[in-house]
Parts: sequence; structure tokens; C-alpha cells
Amino acid sequence: MTKIKKIATYLDQQKWEMTFITNPTTVNYLTGFAMEPHERILGLMIFPDRSPLLFTPELEVEKAKALVDFDVVGYTDSENPWQKIGAQLAGYSIKTIAVEFDHLILSKSDGLKSVFADSNFANLSPFINQMRLIKSADEIDKMIIAGQYADKCFEIGFHFAASGNGVTEMDVVAKIEFEMKRLGISEMSFDTMVLTGARAANPHGVPEAVAIEPNKLLLFDLGVMANGYASDATRTIAIGQPGDFDRQIYEITRQAQQAAFDFVKPGVTAFEIDQVARDVITKAGYGDYFTHRTGHGIGMDVHEFPSIGGSEDITIEKGMCFSIEPGIYIPNQVGVRVEDCLYVTENGAKSLTHTSKDLLIF
Ligand code: MN
Ligand code: MN
Repeated sequence: MTKIKKIATYLDQQKWEMTFITNPTTVNYLTGFAMEPHERILGLMIFPDRSPLLFTPELEVEKAKALVDFDVVGYTDSENPWQKIGAQLAGYSIKTIAVEFDHLILSKSDGLKSVFADSNFANLSPFINQMRLIKSADEIDKMIIAGQYADKCFEIGFHFAASGNGVTEMDVVAKIEFEMKRLGISEMSFDTMVLTGARAANPHGVPEAVAIEPNKLLLFDLGVMANGYASDATRTIAIGQPGDFDRQIYEITRQAQQAAFDFVKPGVTAFEIDQVARDVITKAGYGDYFTHRTGHGIGMDVHEFPSIGGSEDITIEKGMCFSIEPGIYIPNQVGVRVEDCLYVTENGAKSLTHTSKDLLIF
């Protein structure tokens, strides 16, 4: 069954008359049509009993028509998009519109209400999240490629960081992203993170024009978008000879990451995976310094379902993709994180990144 047919069947079961899907990533996932509407309107309307309708800015109509096998309607900047949508569905009784509560903003919700005055909204986000949770073989192939680029980023970044005195965090970020652009990668999956020494003790630290410190650890967290899929990986290396304490913190983190990774297989739960990583760090005495969940799902978005050690538990199934990324962050001293994303196989998991997890010293 196609993805769109799956949604149409679901609408029929729920007795909802239509969707108005606004998240560009969801539209891309369902149709292969990728675009960013910014403040303009992108809406994918799926119905239980008629063929879908894609509503998009006029600028994008030709591109969309080449990709989808149903009607595409455009609007120009001088037209009222909501009236145009209403006109397309004149005579149609719409009581419930399924929208993504995680995405639809109030101004667009008001726009829909202006043409479907008597309708209510139902939340389509849980169903979409569920669909995206299990990756197809084709999706996993794309994630493997995105992972290969992340490994390439590490290789470029490690050597550049070690290339001389005075190289800054931002120099390394720029070098990695410059080389990715040259390889045809047009965007990173998030802002590349390169943090030296104690600056890595902030798990969401921001790189600056700060020189990389010798004989300290250096944390890289990065990923790319390739063919619509994201990669995300973290390595912490050393520039020069780090002290014994840094080495010890590194080793505990690496063991926690490996233990949790090795534990993953169908049937275990997300909470159990989180616990395996947390136990290693807690037993070593640093539990209070592992301040975030162990991982998150990844796919077309760099963060998606499931959460590994978030507020909700889930049983792991073949085809799920998520990160394992424990860290230890000791303020003003040291920050270490080791992260790989993986896909779940019949009886275990395979990593999407392959850069060594031994403490690499440059
Ligand atoms: Mn991550
Ligand atoms: Mn990351």
C-alpha cells in the first residue's frame, strides 16, 4: 500500500474528511516533492474517497507536477490562498480536518477556519510519526550514505584541527562545511559543533573563534543532509596528550556508548537501552554529569521518534533508526560525548557511522 493510501484508509477509519499537511518534511516523505514554503502555504490534502490535492505556491507548481501523480493547484502572491482552497472543495462537507499539531501554526489554522468555518481539527502527528518510525530498506540505504558523509566530515575535521597553532573552532567548522559543499552536500543536518577543552562541558555549546587548546579533548558533533536524510554523530578526540582525568572520562563514556549499542535488538525497550548506558556512567561515579537522554530517532529529520530514555517508553523493532549518545559534562573541566546512529536489524543493530571510537590522539 502506498503511504498516501495508508493515510486515506486511516482517514476513512477515523471518519475524518481530509488532511491539510503543512510540514514540508512530511510532504516530501509522502510524495517525494521537497520544498520550503517559508511564509507561503504548502498543503497536502488527502481524502478518504477522492484523489489527493497538493496546494503550493505557483512558483513550485511545475516541479511538483513532475513528481506527483495527482492534481497540483498553485496560487500567486496576489491571490488569497484560503479562498482558492475553499473554491477547490466547494460543495464538500468538511467536518474534521486532520492536521499536524506538531507543525500547524495559528495563522494557518485561522486561514483554514476562514474557509471551513464549521470544521474541527484532529491531530495527524501521531500517525505520521508512527509511519516514519520504521524505515524501509530504501530509506536505510539513504541513511547509510548520509552516515558515510559524517565519517568524511570527521576525517577532514580531525586533520584540520591538528594542522597548526591558532586554528579555531570556527575555522574547523568552516573547513568541514566548505569541503562538504564541494562534495555536493548543500546543507548540514544541524549547525556543526566543534568545542575545545572545557567548552565541551556545555552539551549544546556553540563554536566560536576560540583557538583549539593543546593537550585537551576536542568534541565534534555533526551530520549532513543527503538525499533528504540526516546523519548525526559525535566524536571526542585529543589534540596533543590529554591528562589522565580526561582519558578516564573518555573511557567511561566510550564504554557506556558501546554497552548500550551492543544491547540494542528487537524486543528491548528504549528505557532499558538508556539504563544500560546510564548504569556504566553511574557506577563510575559520574551519573550526575550525564544530563540528557541516551538518544533520539533520526530519519528525514535529525530528531524524530523514538526517544531513547525520554518521557515515553517504546519497544524496539527492526527498521528503527536512532542515536546512542551518552556524555559526561563536568563544568569548567571536560566534556565528552560519543554518538553513533544505528538501524535495528533482525537480531541486533548496525552503525551508520564507522569512525573509530578509540581515543584518537592527533
Ligand atoms: Mn544526536
Ligand atoms: Mn549529535
